[in-house]
Amino acid sequence: MAIVIMKFGGSCLQDADSFKNILNITEIYKEHKKVYVASAFKGITDLLLDMGKKAEKGIDIDKNIAFIEKKNYDIINEIFGDNEENANVAKEYIDKKISELEDALIDVNEFGFEPYYQDYVLSFGEIFSTYILHLYLKINGYNIVFIPATELIITDDNFGNAFPLYKYTQNRIRKKMVPLLDNPDDITIFCITGFIGRNKIGYITTLGRGGSDYTATILAHVIYETCKFKEIKVILWKNVDGLLVSDPKYINNSEPQLVKILDYNEAKELAFFGAKILHPKCLEAIEPYKIPLEIRNFNKPLEKSQFTIISEKTDKSNIKGISTVEEVAMITVSSGSMVEVPGVLAKIFNIMGDNKINVSLVAQSSSEINTTFIVDVNDGKKATNLIKENEFFKNFFEIKIEYVGILAVIGLQVLDIKIKARIFNALSSNDINVKSISQSSEGLNISLVINKEDIEKAVNTLHEEFH
Ligand code: ASP
Ligand code: MG
Repeated sequence: MAIVIMKFGGSCLQDADSFKNILNITEIYKEHKKVYVASAFKGITDLLLDMGKKAEKGIDIDKNIAFIEKKNYDIINEIFGDNEENANVAKEYIDKKISELEDALIDVNEFGFEPYYQDYVLSFGEIFSTYILHLYLKINGYNIVFIPATELIITDDNFGNAFPLYKYTQNRIRKKMVPLLDNPDDITIFCITGFIGRNKIGYITTLGRGGSDYTATILAHVIYETCKFKEIKVILWKNVDGLLVSDPKYINNSEPQLVKILDYNEAKELAFFGAKILHPKCLEAIEPYKIPLEIRNFNKPLEKSQFTIISEKTDKSNIKGISTVEEVAMITVSSGSMVEVPGVLAKIFNIMGDNKINVSLVAQSSSEINTTFIVDVNDGKKATNLIKENEFFKNFFEIKIEYVGILAVIGLQVLDIKIKARIFNALSSNDINVKSISQSSEGLNISLVINKEDIEKAVNTLHEEFH
C-alpha cells in the first residue's frame, strides 16, 4: 500500500475552485493512503505577525481581527455554498479560535511579543485553514481526521525555528496514525496543520516561515519509521510547475527551464540559496530513508512529465540552479604581518557568532593575507565595527566593507572543470567581474561575488550559456 503525504499551500486554499481541485486530487490518488498538510490561507501568517507587533505597541487591531474573520467567513461561504448548517459549524469553530487569538493578543500587550507568544499567535493561521479543509472533505463524503500538529510533532524549544524531536514524535504518530495507516482497508484521510508543533512542556512552536513543507517531510520520516508500509512519497502542491533553474524575473528572452530531476544534495543547495519554493530544512527529514519528494503544479494534477522530483537519483546533464542574493555585505580583513598566526579566523568567526551574525560565503587566499566573508546586508555595519573595535584587530588589520551581489551556480556539474571554465568565459565575455569565489571541496555550489548591478546580466548570461 502506498502512502502519499501532500502539502497544500495557501495558493491551493483560496476559493471554491481550488477546494474543488483538492477533491479532484483526492480522486486521482484514490489508490493511496493519504495524509494532507495545509498551510495558512494566503497572507494570514504575515497578518498575524503584524497583529502581534501592533498588540505589543498597544495599537488597535480590531480591524485586523475583523479582516481575519471575514477572510475565513468568505472562504466558508464560498465553499459550503448554500449549506448553511455546515457553514455555521465552521464559523462557530473559527469564532472560538478567534476569541482565543484575541486573548493571546491581550497577553502580548501585557507581556510583549516574546518568542513564545509569536509562535502561539502565528499558529492560528494553520488551525483555521486546516479545520476548514477537513470539514470540507468530510462534507464531501470522505473519512477524515483532523489533527493539529501540536498533538503529533514534538520539537525542541527553538521558538520560530524549531527542530523536531523524532523520538517523541514517533510515539505520537504510532498512537494516533499508525493503527489506521497499517490497516490496508482503512480509507481515512488525515488532515494535519502545517508549520506548527509543540515543545516538551506544551508550548506551541513553529518550524520557520514556509515550514509546512517541513511538516510534510517530518511526517513522512516518522511514518516511514513507524508504519509497516514503506512506499511513501511527498507531494508539495504549488502554483508553479516545480523548481526552475533560475528566477524568471531575471530572464529576459526565454522561460527558465524546469529542473525535473535532482538529488537531495542539489536540492539542499538550492533551497538554502533562497529558491523560496522549498523549505531549506525539509530535505533533511526525508533523505535518510530516500523518500522521494515531488513539487507539482496544483493546476495540473495529472501532469506526467512537467514536474520536479527530488530523490536519490539525478542526472549530470544540467546545471540545477543559477541563484542570486541581490545584496549582501562583503567584509574583507587583511594584514601583511599577521600571516601564519593560528587563530585569526577563529577570532573573526567567534566575534560573529557571539553577536549572532550569520556568515555565509568565506574565502581566504592561501597566503592568508586577505580573508573575505559575507554577512547579511543588515549586519554589515555592525560586523565591521565589531572587528574594527576589537583589540586584536585594531593595530595590524585593515577592514573593508563593500555591498555586493552573489551568484551561485548549483548542481553536480559544477564539480567539472570544463563547466567552471564555461562559467568564467561566459561572464568575462560579458564584462562581468568576479570579486571573490568560493566552492568547497566536492561542493555542489560555486558561489561568485559580483557587483550588484551585474546580477541580472550575469543570470541571463549563464542561462544562455547552459540552456
Ligand atoms: N503559514 C506559514 C508561513 O507563511 C507556513 C507555510 O506557509 O508553510 O510561513
Ligand atoms: Mg504561507
